[in-house]
Amino acid sequence: MDQRLMTDLKAAIRSIPDYPKPGIIFRDITTLLGDARAFRRAVDELVHPYAGGKVDKVAGIEARGFILGGAVAHQLSAGFVPIRKKGKLPHQTVRIAYSLEYGVDEMEIHTDAIGQEERVILVDDLIATGGTAVAAVNLLRQIGANVVAACFVIDLPDLGGAQKLRELGVSVRTLVSFEGH
Ligand code: AMP
Repeated sequence: MDQRLMTDLKAAIRSIPDYPKPGIIFRDITTLLGDARAFRRAVDELVHPYAGGKVDKVAGIEARGFILGGAVAHQLSAGFVPIRKKGKLPHQTVRIAYSLEYGVDEMEIHTDAIGQEERVILVDDLIATGGTAVAAVNLLRQIGANVVAACFVIDLPDLGGAQKLRELGVSVRTLVSFEGH
């Protein structure tokens, strides 16, 4: 990705110190989503490596992963599968507990959301410690998915999440990175 585009995308992300608690800098993508050019460029860049290949489903992590994942799925002509906070999905689910950079939670997926060996791309806005994305990959694998890649607009490389995913054999694409937390 060219340097200018990366700078533009980075400038479209708002940073809010000490939210949701002291010491965390919240990387707010609502400003990027609200900027038509930045939103389109971010989605175009996320899908770029996968545009020619066969992707059956895009799985998005609630809630910001739904916005980006929906757009990515549309662009790749793939189906969209939501990974949701516990208790939100109406049909039979599998559930997994995971820890966040700031808390603990559980997420679920419908057991029949993905067919055996379907090729899936995971999408979220940001990867920090990787707790969320690793749990999502494990959920997807539990229901038979072949997770070919995981895409994020933002990487916080100092927290090591992208590296953890790569160690699980998932190729990782991120567009911009911020130092520290
Ligand atoms: P982690 O599980 O530590 O990789 O955290 C990733 C998840 O938490 C993603 O769904 C992000 O949306 C959210 N998140 C974690 N840290 C931040 C941050 N500094 N700014 C915005 N969102 C964050």
